[in-house]
Amino acid sequence: MTSLTLSRLQEAWSWRELDVARCRALTPTLPEPDPASSYGQPASLVPHPDAEERAAVLVLTGYTAFREARPAEALEAAGEALALLGLARASLWYSRALNVRSCAQLELAEFGLATVTLREQLRASRDNGDVETEGAALHDLGVMHTRLDPDHAEGYLLASRSIFERTANTVGQAFTAWSLGELRERQGRAPQAMDLYGTALQLATRCGHRAMQVLVLSRLGERALQAGNAEQGERWLRDALARQSQDPARPLWITVPPLVHLLIHTGRLAEAREVLEMQLQGATHAGMRAVQSELHALLCDVHEALGAPLEALAHLRRHVTLYRQENADEQARKVRALEVLHRTELAEREAHTHRQRSAELQAALNELEALHLQLEKASATDELTGVHNRHHLMTAGVRLLEGQPQPANVAVAILDIDHFKRVNDTYGHDGGDRVLRAFAQFLKRGLRPTDLLARFGGEEFVVLFPGTLLDEAHALLDALRHSLTHFTVDGLPVNLTVSFTAGVVNCPDGQLLPALHRADQLLYRGKRAGRGVVERESLARRPG
Ligand code: GH3
Ligand code: MG
Ligand code: MG
Repeated sequence: MTSLTLSRLQEAWSWRELDVARCRALTPTLPEPDPASSYGQPASLVPHPDAEERAAVLVLTGYTAFREARPAEALEAAGEALALLGLARASLWYSRALNVRSCAQLELAEFGLATVTLREQLRASRDNGDVETEGAALHDLGVMHTRLDPDHAEGYLLASRSIFERTANTVGQAFTAWSLGELRERQGRAPQAMDLYGTALQLATRCGHRAMQVLVLSRLGERALQAGNAEQGERWLRDALARQSQDPARPLWITVPPLVHLLIHTGRLAEAREVLEMQLQGATHAGMRAVQSELHALLCDVHEALGAPLEALAHLRRHVTLYRQENADEQARKVRALEVLHRTELAEREAHTHRQRSAELQAALNELEALHLQLEKASATDELTGVHNRHHLMTAGVRLLEGQPQPANVAVAILDIDHFKRVNDTYGHDGGDRVLRAFAQFLKRGLRPTDLLARFGGEEFVVLFPGTLLDEAHALLDALRHSLTHFTVDGLPVNLTVSFTAGVVNCPDGQLLPALHRADQLLYRGKRAGRGVVERESLARRPG
């Protein structure tokens, strides 16, 4: 799908309230998911590029299903859309999918689940800047509180109203005026309720929301009749009926009973029958069985009052048959919807546990890795001196040499502290240890970061000098040897003198062991020659 499709889907969404048929016409049918791609699998963590468009189509079909009283389908579509979007929560279709889900849950009177969804919807729409869905969530929370906890309803409704006013969303404003009216009635503030219903009617008329107009006019008419204002009541109910008949696709049942009761009450039976028969035509055309059933019951009353018992009986039979069918269907629909609802909830809980479990696993892996690094470091480090150990030299050192583009430019040296036995003899083994530690740190400070220093054993150290000519390495070691005259060790007398002897070679073939062997021979030559020297290999003697 393309961005063209997305903008068309956007348009479809904008029509969902005012013209469901148009919304449906703009919604493309969903192609079968490509089995080779990941986006067909709801559990996928990788959002497919088409996932958003696909989710949008699901959201729209879900919304249509909700409007047409098929909550199970609405829930299924919303759940699939949410799973598809998964990580792509910044998408507007994510909060809209939650909107569809909460509408269906409210329709099923699953208030606990609806509250959870509405709160999530509120959070998601605030995160992704979907102001319309935020207003809807606040409105629906307000409606739910009006029924369950009226003291807390007002805040939600006023917040949603201010959003809809700020964004000049007339449909939204009509809804909040209507819902605030219902809240005022609950609070026993009838006059304010009527004012708010009046506002809702104006707004619904302005934006062409016919269902809302019919709803409000019926309520106004009923209230007027209850207040004994029959004339005004009838005017409103007839107005509702007239506006409703402009929308034969979806006759609203709500207006008919109060009007018909008024007509029967005032002896206008023929007129009552006429209204009912006209409505029956519309309801039959739209396949609204529950409405047909109720209309037959009223027609039964009217025929009875008209003294036509046979017609009355026929309508009664029709009423009962339709009522039974509708009841069975309604039950089945509800059961199916609840099944979907709880299946979705279970799946989501499972996914949550799964996510938590992977997070725990990841933490354990990180810990293991840290431990591994620690162990690796420990296994590469000489415990006494803190510099690398022989194991590290024999592994990493060998790799270092093998990886050199020009092995001839690597120098290898062995250093041995002179007369170290005397240090031990004079200062004890502990004193000897101190000297070893200080000497290793002295070397480390004097070498370059690229040089590799390792304790080879006892008081012997090896240095690898990558990218260094033999002369350079020799000069560096000799300088170190000279600066040892300033060497002191904490806790030992300042007149302590330490020197070392070294042999340094280069490594033309990149082989560490033969180079070490030659360096060792040079070291002993230095010892024999009197110690405190750095012996270098004469290049003429170099093998090859
Ligand atoms: P040369 O100049 O010929 O190298 O004489 P040297 O005394 O240094 O050589 P030799 O190899 O005879 O003695 C090395 C001494 O180092 C022997 C051993 O006790 C001591 N030594 C080896 N490892 C350690 C250690 O970890 N701590 C201490 N304190 N002494 C050690
Ligand atoms: Mg030694
Ligand atoms: Mg020694």
